[in-house]
Amino acid sequence: MEPHTEPSPVSSRVEILRAWPDTSICHGFIGRAGGVSTDAFASMNLSYWVGDDERAVDTNWKRLRREVPDLKLVARLNQVHGSVVHAATRDTAGLRPAGDGIVTAEPGVMLGIFSADCVPILLVDAKRKVAGALHAGWRGVIADIAGAGVRAMAQLGARPSDIRAAIGPSIGQCCFEVDAELGDRFGREIDGARNHTRAGRPGKAFIDLRAVVRDQLERAGLAPANITSVGPCTQCASDRFFSRRAARGKTTGLQMSFVGFAA
Ligand SMILES: [Zn+2]
Repeated sequence: MEPHTEPSPVSSRVEILRAWPDTSICHGFIGRAGGVSTDAFASMNLSYWVGDDERAVDTNWKRLRREVPDLKLVARLNQVHGSVVHAATRDTAGLRPAGDGIVTAEPGVMLGIFSADCVPILLVDAKRKVAGALHAGWRGVIADIAGAGVRAMAQLGARPSDIRAAIGPSIGQCCFEVDAELGDRFGREIDGARNHTRAGRPGKAFIDLRAVVRDQLERAGLAPANITSVGPCTQCASDRFFSRRAARGKTTGLQMSFVGFAA
């Protein structure tokens, strides 16, 4: 007879999507299941800055660290939808400066980026142990946060041709309906973006943000084969991922995506 094992319900497990098999790269895109936060923050909200109960967020962090013990020191940002990228060290990791990209060349410093529909981008040059994490909403995409992130990694010694990128769970073209004016602006301001925009209802357009980001990463010097896309559309899969649109624009919890090299 098989030993009796109680399968734990899906909702009690922390879901972490990964892009790379290398165990030396500590990384993942965390879903919303497996935490203790409630209501709009249910349940694995890891942000202290969205109005969630601090004790619940503490408990969520404890649960996460049980799953990923290397997540000791996590450098975070005050995200503002721009293209400023900060370099984090062990000494500056606690500062939480304003910006939308964070890079490091110090093993042991983990980078955390928060999102709920915006595009999380994780970057690694595994040879030189340089990592980057970027937050790209539509404003950040227009500001080319992807290119800025790659350049900031290069300043720390990374080689763009060796950088691998993982573009994570975020709103898909299926659901990212915007005013046609914004679709036109993408087409005007970003090379090739017209190919990733299609007309919607009268006066509306659908933009494929992940595809635009992929183009930007290639223009910054990444090999197409080194860019991968992970996970579903956050609005379509709002049971697994926080989605601002699924919450009709109201404040929600935020999922964290993280990357770094263990010390
Ligand atoms: Zn969708």
